[in-house]
Amino acid sequence: MNKTYNPKEVEEKWYKYWEDQGYFHANYKEDRPLFSVVIPPPNITGSLHMGHALNTTIQDILVRWKRMSGFNTLWLPGTDHAGIATQNVVEREIASQGSSRNEYGRKKFVEKVWKWREQYGRTIVYQLKRLGGSCDWSRERFTMDEGMSAAVREVFVRLYEEGLICRDSYIINWCPRCMTALSDLEVEHENLRGKLYHVRYNLTDGSGSLIVATTRPETIPGDTAVAVNPGDERYGDFIGKTLFLPVTGREIPVIADDVVDMEFGTGALKITPAHDPNDFEVGNRHGLPRIKVMGDDGVMNDEAGPYKGMDRFQCRKAILKDMSDNGSLIREEDYVHAVGHCYRCKTIIEPNISKQWFVRMKTLAAPAIKAAEDGAVRFIPKGWENTYFEWMNNIKDWCISRQIWWGHQIPAWYCDACHGVTVSRTDPSSCSHCGGTEIRQDEDVLDTWFSSALWPFSTLGWPKETEDLKRFYPTSVLVTGFDILFFWVARMMMMGLKFMGEVPFRDVCIHALVRDAEGQKMSKSRGNVIDPLIIMDKYGTDALRFTLASMTSPGRDIKLSEERIEGYRNFGNKIWNAARFIFMNMPEEPVTLDCTALSLPDRWILSRLNSTVKDVTQMLGEYRFDLAAGTIYSFFWREFCDWYVEFAKIQMQEGGKRKDNTVAVLVNTLDTALRMLHPFMPFITEEIWQQLHSSSIMTAPYPSAEDALIDEAVESQMESVMDIIKNIRSLRSELNIPPSKEVDVYLKIDSDAVRKLIEGQMVCIKRLSSAGNTITGADIQRPELSAILIFPGGEIYLPLAGIIDIDKEKGLLEKRLKNINDEISRIDKKLSNMDFVEKAPQEVVLKEKEKHRELMDQKERIESNLSWLK
Ligand SMILES: [Zn+2]
Ligand SMILES: [Zn+2]
Repeated sequence: MNKTYNPKEVEEKWYKYWEDQGYFHANYKEDRPLFSVVIPPPNITGSLHMGHALNTTIQDILVRWKRMSGFNTLWLPGTDHAGIATQNVVEREIASQGSSRNEYGRKKFVEKVWKWREQYGRTIVYQLKRLGGSCDWSRERFTMDEGMSAAVREVFVRLYEEGLICRDSYIINWCPRCMTALSDLEVEHENLRGKLYHVRYNLTDGSGSLIVATTRPETIPGDTAVAVNPGDERYGDFIGKTLFLPVTGREIPVIADDVVDMEFGTGALKITPAHDPNDFEVGNRHGLPRIKVMGDDGVMNDEAGPYKGMDRFQCRKAILKDMSDNGSLIREEDYVHAVGHCYRCKTIIEPNISKQWFVRMKTLAAPAIKAAEDGAVRFIPKGWENTYFEWMNNIKDWCISRQIWWGHQIPAWYCDACHGVTVSRTDPSSCSHCGGTEIRQDEDVLDTWFSSALWPFSTLGWPKETEDLKRFYPTSVLVTGFDILFFWVARMMMMGLKFMGEVPFRDVCIHALVRDAEGQKMSKSRGNVIDPLIIMDKYGTDALRFTLASMTSPGRDIKLSEERIEGYRNFGNKIWNAARFIFMNMPEEPVTLDCTALSLPDRWILSRLNSTVKDVTQMLGEYRFDLAAGTIYSFFWREFCDWYVEFAKIQMQEGGKRKDNTVAVLVNTLDTALRMLHPFMPFITEEIWQQLHSSSIMTAPYPSAEDALIDEAVESQMESVMDIIKNIRSLRSELNIPPSKEVDVYLKIDSDAVRKLIEGQMVCIKRLSSAGNTITGADIQRPELSAILIFPGGEIYLPLAGIIDIDKEKGLLEKRLKNINDEISRIDKKLSNMDFVEKAPQEVVLKEKEKHRELMDQKERIESNLSWLK
């Protein structure tokens, strides 16, 4: 075995080996309990970030654990075509070559995107492999592959036939840069500092005027009314009269509508049905005309009169100037308001009226709400259930058409002769209404989330009744971030129930976001991105996986720092060194464990091992990866390496049967611990396992606890032994007694049983605490000038005359005590300063409190040491 573990040398080798051996492959024919997972398909434009790393790690832990536990396990991978995102990337690429999408034309452009996808779109797949993801790559899918396209088509047609998909004029969110509609979820709201303009509209009869407040004066040419609240006494006389538009002079009515908030602005609201979603509704109620004054590209059109041809922001300036000149701009005030931005290109979106396709969601939502109420699907952590219900109960129709080229083109054909619409499973050659052959397909494509909503069943072969579909649907668990709960999870619920009659997954395991050490979102502009690929190069994949698993506690974001990863890399090295030590002591002939000839430390480590297995299994079942990882970590490092291996070294010196049995316990513990750890750290465990067994750990069973070996009495006996050693060691280190200097140990223990127990372990106690002579008894007198230590079973005395210079040590301790007291009062002062406690980041406050606790402990110890030195 190499002296040090080198991840680079082993990771690629083992991943390839696993794939070649077909260990990731699920077989529907096998009659074992099932466990299936579909991957949240990463975008083909994606490059691995920490979010993927966390998501993949969690899924792989579950999948490897279940696979080793005997389940027929499928983890189905794939990628998403990511409509707008991918189109933008390719557009940018061809722009850099001096061309444009329109120059290419639709057909050539789409071909170009496919080519791009072949070239770069699978980068993310290789990166998932580097993370060790044990996906069944033979079943890899893509949201635009043939099967998925068939599923999309079938769903669209069936929903259309049932009246759940329809085409309608509606006001939608529009990105003037991407030139496409966006769903409400695709709009990001950001608070911007703007202005609220107060504008005077004069009555046509000359009897007065109304003041209207607006943030978007460029839409004034599209106003078709001014609305006031019918209960507003200030405006009772105005209702039914007409006003002149301040810039174009067109006449519009004053109407009354309950929706107008009397408190807001002046209580009079300009109504622009074509450019504002709320005004659109008001317009519908009052039969107002819709006047579009802006084109889809954000440039003012004919209806804008003198402002025609101006960009929307240019137009705003021009209108303000004109109104200021003619006296209708009364005043402007600073105003902060939420402005919607395109989630892809960050352009300010424009509400726009257009003909779009919609899915009627209310009907689909009802069963999905019920399924969660009935517990057919479980959210972990449970708190997300409320978020889900709230959204589902207030669900709006889903605008699914996008005015882009990359995606599933909408399967609807228009007939110019009869204006009929033909929606069909296969491309029609004639109009289904009049039989005319002059038909053309809708140019739009479907929202990229439409195909991902079908992911859990379309990937398994639906609409065909495949064996995979029969066996693996519903899937066992979905692992996802909360940011796509509505985009994706809720829609999969609705579609799964609608088309499969059953929920798509039993459990939804929702994990948090990975942030930087200070809790800030990682972003390129902040320069705080920790790149998983660089981390894996530097520390190995296992270290990254173990770090993410240990830090993913429910409902809390991960604050990732490189030091943490480095720490868990050291854990890997610890495991490696322990294995090396064991291998070096293994005899040629394999040793078998004789359970009738175990020492107390042997029985203790086997008891702890089995308790750990039991706890870890339960924690994994509850999706508590953090607790499971922490439990394995402290078992392996603290209990096994720090304690048992040290006892084992002493036991092995006895030779003969004792040595053989000790080696057997070491091997047995390592063997079980490796299997327990494998889902978290697949590479290092495989590397060691192969040297132990010459077979793959992937085919070994996940350990199950042997209850007979769990012995609480043994655990507490061993605690006493370790307690004595720990006490003596820490005293020695505080008094700077070098390890070479032996100190006699007197143990005053009242109970005969405890004394016998301690005497039985005296060889180890002596060795591990560098003790000279040891004396035990019930009525031992404390020697002069001795340190006293209390442990649960009695007292320990260490005579120190001649060992240390008592006066010198006393001086040193007093000096240290003074420093500690100073430090404590400094922190006290800081923590009693409310300004600090309230304003400093919580992390900093917690750190100070933690430090305070530690100092208090130290203070107590030094004071007790000083007391007997006096
Ligand atoms: Zn955009
Ligand atoms: Zn027709």
